[in-house]
Amino acid sequence: MTTDQTNNGKRAPRDECLQNLRLHFGHLNGRAVLEPLLRDVFKGRVAAWSSFGAESAVLLHMISNVDPGTPILFVDTGKLFPETLAYRDRLIANLGLTGVRTLSQEKAEQERLDRDGMLWQTDPDTCCAIRKVAPLAGNLTPFAALITGRKRYQAATRSSLQVIEQVDGCIKINPLAGWSEDRVRTYMSEHDLPDHPLVWSGYLSIGCAPCTMSVKSGEHARTGRWRGREKTECGIHFAGGRSVGQNA
Ligand code: SF4
Repeated sequence: MTTDQTNNGKRAPRDECLQNLRLHFGHLNGRAVLEPLLRDVFKGRVAAWSSFGAESAVLLHMISNVDPGTPILFVDTGKLFPETLAYRDRLIANLGLTGVRTLSQEKAEQERLDRDGMLWQTDPDTCCAIRKVAPLAGNLTPFAALITGRKRYQAATRSSLQVIEQVDGCIKINPLAGWSEDRVRTYMSEHDLPDHPLVWSGYLSIGCAPCTMSVKSGEHARTGRWRGREKTECGIHFAGGRSVGQNA
């Protein structure tokens, strides 16, 4: 395998094929996987995606400790809770993040495709495709890899999530894939990270306001997302950006 001398004297693989990346980094987690990929393997060619939702602070804190200038892509769908926008600003300030980019669909295009703003009610898959998937997909071109904060425990659709995967030709790095809910909570408290303001009102997984409800004690966190519908994912993380039929 081809290798390259790195700053700290270790050798990192130059060959970015999925198999090699998994071999070298697939067994790591958290900061241990982030550090070599951000600083060496994908230096300058990697972004993170964050919803600035209920558990987002953990990944953002790790990134801020490795490279606070890492591009962090945040999609403003135009339907978010104002508390999410305020939380984004608070975390940016607290963690010293300098690379956050807020993306959104062009207003004219959004109005053309969702004239009355009610598409979420009649066709949520298309609404997500327009408001979430398209703005993100349109901004991924400069990056060879994308970091996400997804975890296996979050949903059945994520139960076999790998630390490193490849979707639509893009390498995705999921440093928290194998983390438990307890480990996330412990990390938040050990590092004194603030909660999303809606967590204390029972919102444990937070997306757009019309499609997110609070959950009762004992309910799974994502039960409040698209409650009453079969839909469980926005489609950002699936091939082709569509989550239709992937609810198994
Ligand atoms: S979560 Fe709801 S409002 Fe947000 S983009 Fe998807 S369908 Fe539209």
